[in-house]
Amino acid sequence: MNYIVFDLEWNQCPQGKSRENPRLPFEIVEIGAIKLNEAKEEIGRFHEMIRPLVYRHLHFRTREVIHITEEELKHARTFSPAAREFLDWCGTDCKFVTWGSLDLTELQRNMDYYRIKNPLPKPLFYYDLQKMFSLLYADGKSRASLEDAVDFLEIPRLWPFHRAIDDTCYTAEIMKRMDLSWVSKYESIDYYRLPENPAEEIYRDFGTYTKYVSRVFADKEQALADKNVAAIRCCRCGLPVWKRIRWFSAGANVYLSLAQCPRHGFIKGKIRLKRTQGDHIFVVKTSKQVDDKTARLIRDKKESVKDRRRERRKKRRSQNS
Ligand SMILES: [Zn+2]
Repeated sequence: MNYIVFDLEWNQCPQGKSRENPRLPFEIVEIGAIKLNEAKEEIGRFHEMIRPLVYRHLHFRTREVIHITEEELKHARTFSPAAREFLDWCGTDCKFVTWGSLDLTELQRNMDYYRIKNPLPKPLFYYDLQKMFSLLYADGKSRASLEDAVDFLEIPRLWPFHRAIDDTCYTAEIMKRMDLSWVSKYESIDYYRLPENPAEEIYRDFGTYTKYVSRVFADKEQALADKNVAAIRCCRCGLPVWKRIRWFSAGANVYLSLAQCPRHGFIKGKIRLKRTQGDHIFVVKTSKQVDDKTARLIRDKKESVKDRRRERRKKRRSQNS
């Protein structure tokens, strides 16, 4: 298996969001990629500028940030031949590595727009090196910029930032210096192509927590009523658990619950509702073993949500009378 470390640069509608094509908000103008073998040694490079066909002029921010000129793109190939060659070059046995979670999604969106057959596996697991960097060197939640990570690891700043091939070089250098042995299991899942039926739904066991990605539902009510979505099992032993607090709304598109395993104690459930391109809903649910203190915090949160709702009802009643 090879690693494909890659980075894309894209352009957006120069006249602003109101004039953009909703099927292609970001049009790729550069692909940069480095192929590493399993020993993380470089065995190939791919670099191509792409002539945009939807937004033929560059958005001022694109020009500013990535320093590409329209002149440079005029003589470049269009996306279809470049992307086909890129996918061939990647080969079938590879693991994609990106800095952040956007590139694979935008690559596939551009492929769909230009009707290129999608040969990538489904579900598509990849290494979000930005997340792994945070797991290794920070709290696992914060996200460092590529430049900060380069400085942190004392990698010489040999190239400018924000060009696809240069950013790819830096990402590859970061990856070479990271010990991936314990973070490699924290692969990310690309959400561009989602499960279409219960059999395709994704379950991942990360040891200390589990993750579930649902199929697509018409709306929020349908998603929350689904038994796979609502189910909670112990993330350590997989056994059914005793529900202590049923799912309750804990903020915009977030639901929490608390359960208890006879052997492993409290299990916190968290549902995040996410919106698809077509305005449908899918669910990412995690369950995690937590200590008594966290369990108490969930209980408090539930109480404060209940109190607030009671207050609102009281206010409404007094306004009506
Ligand atoms: Zn258990």
